[in-house]
Amino acid sequence: MNNRLVIAVDGPAGAGKSTIAKKIAKILNIEYIDTGAMYRALTLKILKSNIKVNDIKEILKLMESTSISFKENHIYLDEMKVDTEIRKNIINNNVSCIAKIKEVREKMVEMQRRLSESNNVIMDGRDIATVVLPNANYKFFITASVEERARRRYKELLEKDNKDITYEQVLDEIKIRDKIDSTREIAPLKVTADAYVVDTTNMTIDQCVDKIISIIEGR
Ligand code: C5P
Repeated sequence: MNNRLVIAVDGPAGAGKSTIAKKIAKILNIEYIDTGAMYRALTLKILKSNIKVNDIKEILKLMESTSISFKENHIYLDEMKVDTEIRKNIINNNVSCIAKIKEVREKMVEMQRRLSESNNVIMDGRDIATVVLPNANYKFFITASVEERARRRYKELLEKDNKDITYEQVLDEIKIRDKIDSTREIAPLKVTADAYVVDTTNMTIDQCVDKIISIIEGR
């Protein structure tokens, strides 16, 4: 691990991980890697290619000719910027089916380790502390009640493309995603013994950021 600063952030959907990790990256002037965005980008390509989410053979073939990269905090799928497209609800509802495929995860983990190899990084996802960066200097598990996470996602969806969705629908979808992510066979979402757990249910983003920074700075 040399003298690099490596921070792992895990947690369920809608807990605020990405927003918090992005702010911390800026404050500490380190790189931010959003691994969820990588699974989302692949899901987008699979759906666009009309491949069924359970057709593992075709998915793996497609992955061979897929490039996923980050430039200045934007995500590119085959050199096209896809920041907005990957946040659509159709992606929310299919990504966990893709992310539970063993071979997909192996390729993603390899890519994620390579991306973080020579930099100071903060990386967020579901298996960062357990699988991708088990030797991280700091591990945070960011969570919130399922109702609060659904409220945040609902608000976010209303602000973007989905005007006809209800809060109850979002709540159900988050519960389904939580279940798939935490019960899957490979790299399920779980808290490691050495992780700091931050419950953001009654906290603002800035309060969470302050708390994490103070832990890192040993205050
Ligand atoms: O973090 P985000 O909600 O964007 O992640 C989307 C989905 O990608 C998750 O619900 C999960 O199924 C998958 N994922 C994963 N491992 C990661 C990051 C995301 O399985 N490291």
